[in-house]
Amino acid sequence: PFVQVMEISEKPTEYSYEDIGGLEEQLQEVRETVELPLLRPELFEKVGINPPKGILLFGSPGTGKTLVAKAVANATNATFIRIIGSELVQKFIGEGARMVRELFEMARNKTPAIIFIDELDAIGSKRLQVATSGDREVQRTLMQLLSELDGFNNRGDVRIIGATNRPDILDPALLRPGRFDRLIEFPPPNEEARIKIFEIHTKSMNLDKKAKNFKNYISSTEGATGAEINAIVMEAGMFAIRRESDIISFADFQKAITKVIKGSKKSHARFE
Ligand code: ATP
Repeated sequence: PFVQVMEISEKPTEYSYEDIGGLEEQLQEVRETVELPLLRPELFEKVGINPPKGILLFGSPGTGKTLVAKAVANATNATFIRIIGSELVQKFIGEGARMVRELFEMARNKTPAIIFIDELDAIGSKRLQVATSGDREVQRTLMQLLSELDGFNNRGDVRIIGATNRPDILDPALLRPGRFDRLIEFPPPNEEARIKIFEIHTKSMNLDKKAKNFKNYISSTEGATGAEINAIVMEAGMFAIRRESDIISFADFQKAITKVIKGSKKSHARFE
């Protein structure tokens, strides 16, 4: 049952730093706290400081949190173990705590390793009133996570990255020193970053000259995330195919932007 809830890649090579547009400061912080302790632990020993144990990436869905975590794992040749908080509590009722224990055990057996806990809020939201047995189960899972975090050495070669869209609802116990005590915000990409992301995602695509002038898309993609730009590029390709053309045009991009941006506005409105 384990494999359903965990994604494990021995040496992930899917993404590297060149695949990330913008996020320069975020990447630098993640590299200093995750990559450097794995690659050059002696630096921390000599200076006599402990790198932070856990870092927490927060920001809207699709802003590149998973992307950055995978790229760092690639750069360090670490085993990458990803677990999704909501799946852990929904699929493994009564077994969440055991899963967390096994997760850390597996990481210790496959060092260097990076544990990536996505949707951390699903197991670590503020304790309101623990009412149902389901709440108590989530509670036990969280307690196990806290005890695993406290139990291991920060200079070791297991690093932990958490991610959430809702840092405001996290249990403060998770954010205490020695746990997820470094917070890194992932904002939507600015103009320059959006152009970079368009460049990255169209690298192997066939675009005409006007379509390639990504400056033209800046104003209509204000507020769009990296994931939405990725979707726009894919949709533009679909519009070209529909015209039975093998070159993507500016008009294809315009239609794709309307489709993706409008679609996302509608879906956001539904949740508000
Ligand atoms: P979630 O909260 O939904 O897990 P996330 O922040 O982890 O979201 P990612 O899975 O990293 O989002 O992003 C989804 C996809 O969007 C990436 O695989 C990538 O194709 C694209 N993407 C997002 N941000 C960027 C970026 N800064 N540069 C290039 N591509 C990006």
